[in-house]
Amino acid sequence: MEKTTNSKTEEFSLDDLQEETNSQERELNDTEILSDKDIPNGFEGFGFSDELLKTIKEKGYKEPSPIQKAAFPELMLGRDLVGQAQTGTGKTAAFALPLLDRLKENERKPQVLVLTPTRELAMQVADSFRAYGAGHNHINILAIYGGADFRTQINALKRGVDIIVGTPGRVMDHMRQKTLNTIGLSCLVLDEADEMLRMGFIDDVEWILSQLPLERQLILFSATMPSEIRRLSKNYLNEPAEITIKSCAQEARLIKQNFISIKNSYKLEALKRVLEAKNDEGVIIFVRTKVITLVVAETLEAAGHEVAVLNGDVPQNQRERTVERLRKGSVDVLVATDVAARGLDVERIGLVINYDMPFDSEAYVHRIGRTGRAGRNGEAILFANPRERHFIGNLERAVGQKIEPMAIPSNSDINKGRLEKLHKRLINAAKNEHKDKEEISLLNELLKKTAEELQIDPEQVAIAAISLAVGPSPLLTQDDESWIKQVSNSSRRESRHEGRSLARRKNGRDIGQPEKNMERFRVAVGHRDRVKPGNLVGAIANETGLKGRMIGRIQIFESYSLIDLPKGMPEKIFKDLKRLKVMNRELQINRNS
Ligand code: AMP
Repeated sequence: MEKTTNSKTEEFSLDDLQEETNSQERELNDTEILSDKDIPNGFEGFGFSDELLKTIKEKGYKEPSPIQKAAFPELMLGRDLVGQAQTGTGKTAAFALPLLDRLKENERKPQVLVLTPTRELAMQVADSFRAYGAGHNHINILAIYGGADFRTQINALKRGVDIIVGTPGRVMDHMRQKTLNTIGLSCLVLDEADEMLRMGFIDDVEWILSQLPLERQLILFSATMPSEIRRLSKNYLNEPAEITIKSCAQEARLIKQNFISIKNSYKLEALKRVLEAKNDEGVIIFVRTKVITLVVAETLEAAGHEVAVLNGDVPQNQRERTVERLRKGSVDVLVATDVAARGLDVERIGLVINYDMPFDSEAYVHRIGRTGRAGRNGEAILFANPRERHFIGNLERAVGQKIEPMAIPSNSDINKGRLEKLHKRLINAAKNEHKDKEEISLLNELLKKTAEELQIDPEQVAIAAISLAVGPSPLLTQDDESWIKQVSNSSRRESRHEGRSLARRKNGRDIGQPEKNMERFRVAVGHRDRVKPGNLVGAIANETGLKGRMIGRIQIFESYSLIDLPKGMPEKIFKDLKRLKVMNRELQINRNS
């Protein structure tokens, strides 16, 4: 098997590529001596059509990103491909550009199907196809996802579509109803495959795969490569080219990551302080449940922030509006649950706050990936209560970098933040030239008149004007901050205590031995899979025929669980149990020696 392994080591930023191109274009416009053909274009040499090269140039891309450089030659040859890369690496263009150029004209039947875990990502990918396909002749691209009107989708499909981007459930529905014709499909892309697995779509994806023509190109992109995704790629892809962009560490380098050790009851206070002290344009706050999105949003609104909420209850059209408001800057803070914010790509997000601990390290990687978009710098802050402190090690391993502790911002941090924000506002106001000349001269007169009347310097009048902008509350806070020290000390004590009892539990002292006639087994599902004892009991009872009450003690840990089962399990049952899937993960049961 031919392997293309592209491990990135040097720092790479899509922004730099864009910046270089812009300056080069500016230069060309100034001199206007070179023709289009003379522009050095890193996209030449892959066999792209002139239309496509023109569009790429208009987009301002100069150089292909590392994943693009590695993927273009393979995909232009029609090879299968497995790419390990996260969003922000340019992976959409990596598959979209070659696929667009390889489309057959006037087919009016779907030729390319892209599956994405969320409707947000489906819409984004469809938009990218539209943008990249702008120079091609009449390409029809359709995004189909749940929650949108079925009829409208059917009508669009009937009119003829070349490229479909959709979520697995809705795509499957259309295939079952024969409203989506797969006969002409020559390519399937699985985008963010690990997310589809995590969201429980893998069976749907496999069903869709089984319905496709045998002669087809398969492309799989995934930020991480859990064993299930490896299996999928092994079973369905034909000698794929493999590309790994080690973007985790690279992205992590761009994202400054800290944690605040804090008890749940102080989180809201701490959150308000963090937002005051930080000077970021766009902030996403991740919480665990819908109810918490509302509590957090209300508190922040009361504290004067422009807040929006994204949770499963927010209807689709409103979600799109919310994301647009965030993008445009009419909302600064978004409070979201994981599912609702998946695939969200807004460049102005400078800070991600993990108000609640993510369910697992993959969720953490995805959450913090909402900042540092397209090579920008970003920051992520995690709130961890004493019981959660020991998860931080897992997260550090996943991002390949230390997550440093930080203190709850003090009054002086907040005041510094407020001054910086005011500074920014002043600069913006000063830069935005007042258009109305008459108004300016009137304001000038007002300034002079006030200074003369009070016999003070114009500088003092300027300070009065700034105070007007600051509003009635004082600029500098003098709120009580003594609780911060107490809270930090007590949470430090509790984490130490938790750490010790965790170590005891790990050493097996707290767990105790299985009862007589029982044996202890270890299975590969744990908290990260959101498994509950009932899931394990149900699945094992079903598979083995054991009565639920014969299943002994169950202890669930982050990545595995321990289960006590009657001694002497027959080998056949043991084998079946190994492959049995609970919460979408094989149990891989073993004796816990
Ligand atoms: P993605 O990883 O597909 O989410 O892309 C991240 C961002 O990078 C998108 O906003 C793209 O428009 C942009 N982008 C993709 N390829 C390039 C490139 N070669 N040069 C500059 N920007 C790019």
